[in-house]
Amino acid sequence: MDFALTDIQKLVQETARNFAENEIAPYVEKDEENHYYRREILSKLGELGLLGWSIPEEYGGNGMGWMEACIALYEIAKVHTSWRLSISGNCWGPAMTIYHHGTEEQRQKWIPGLLSGEYVGSFALTEANSGSDVASMKTFAEDKGDHFVVNGSKMWISGGHVSDIGLVYVVTEKGKGPKGLSCLVFDYNNTPGVTRIPIHTKFGMYSAPTSELVFENAIVPKDNLLGKMGAGFNICMWQLNNTRMGCATGAAALSAAATEGAVQYANERMQFGQPIGKFQMIQQQICEMLLEDEAAKYLVFRAAWLKDNEMPSQQATSMAKLYACKAAVNAANLAMKIYGSYGYSTEYPCARWLRDAKQFETLEGTSNIHTGIIASIELGYQPNR
Ligand SMILES: Cc1cc2nc3c(=O)[nH]c(=O)nc-3n(C[C@H](O)[C@H](O)[C@H](O)COP(=O)(O)OP(=O)(O)OC[C@H]3O[C@@H](n4cnc5c(N)ncnc54)[C@H](O)[C@@H]3O)c2cc1C
Repeated sequence: MDFALTDIQKLVQETARNFAENEIAPYVEKDEENHYYRREILSKLGELGLLGWSIPEEYGGNGMGWMEACIALYEIAKVHTSWRLSISGNCWGPAMTIYHHGTEEQRQKWIPGLLSGEYVGSFALTEANSGSDVASMKTFAEDKGDHFVVNGSKMWISGGHVSDIGLVYVVTEKGKGPKGLSCLVFDYNNTPGVTRIPIHTKFGMYSAPTSELVFENAIVPKDNLLGKMGAGFNICMWQLNNTRMGCATGAAALSAAATEGAVQYANERMQFGQPIGKFQMIQQQICEMLLEDEAAKYLVFRAAWLKDNEMPSQQATSMAKLYACKAAVNAANLAMKIYGSYGYSTEYPCARWLRDAKQFETLEGTSNIHTGIIASIELGYQPNR
């Protein structure tokens, strides 16, 4: 087993780290305060090739795989978790799903723009009354021969109102549960009948826009159907096994950022005539944070390695996501304690870490759902895909 990064991986790490420090870090606090989505960051990520993972170069891919993608995402998310969505929202969500399930025409039409950052991507499955129970969705796409007429709504969609190209999971055959779902590609700028409403009530992730999408007789050409009619549930589960890596890697990165911050603060803050890092109870907290974020990182890279080697990765992905989320919440919580009152103010990033860490417990499968997946695979109740 080799834990060393290859020369290419070191280059990816350095490129992503420099980008995050120079292009994201200067705006983090200002953008948080204004709940601002800095669109140009996505374009610049695309220009640098940091969006095109595990997709052939003929479609704009960068020729590198999951391991390199997670290394890059980790560096970006360590600086600002909101930007972890760039890779899952553009590459692992729509582009990779179109690449694996789409026709050649669909690949050529949408993938290059998603990987270059020309388009903002998104994926929409959740509805107001359909979250963990994906197959209970109600948004209906009526087959009209050469097009669908879509009615219904989606909720909590990352990038929904700024998105150009998005996957939307819909019901095409009522009463058939998972077998009645299909996946459509929405070209939002050219689809009448879609109202996109920003959600301003979020607890965190302020620089990553989230939206409600309302479809009223939205017309979608039949050419935008991804895969076969009725294949939507399987495509959705396949996509989640990829996009969940965005949460897992982002959470591991947040955990590391909070730990590094706490270590630095513990060495600087003097009480009782010595740095607080000298107190055993602070050392215990630092040790706990460090152990958890190291373990989270290795679970993430193990899942990435399985994906690069085309081996079953669903259980490993759920393990990485579940554990990294716990590590992130714990690290953010402990960091706030170690920073004392300053941690509770906006002078330091502790409050942002805590707000952003909490998202991971819910999206792309709640912690309960991932616990169930891990155990069900182990018990032989479902295959490990
Ligand atoms: C910031 C943000 C961004 C998001 N981005 C997207 C996006 O881009 N696209 C998208 O489609 N969705 C997105 N979501 C939605 C998110 O994926 C869902 O909220 C999530 O899947 C959970 O669904 P729910 O909120 O309806 O919770 P529910 O499913 O109602 O769950 C409520 C509680 O019940 C528990 N529960 C439910 N079922 C079970 C079970 N079988 N066993 C044990 N416990 C159970 C859950 O663990 C949870 O604690 C986003 C959400 C947020 C907050």
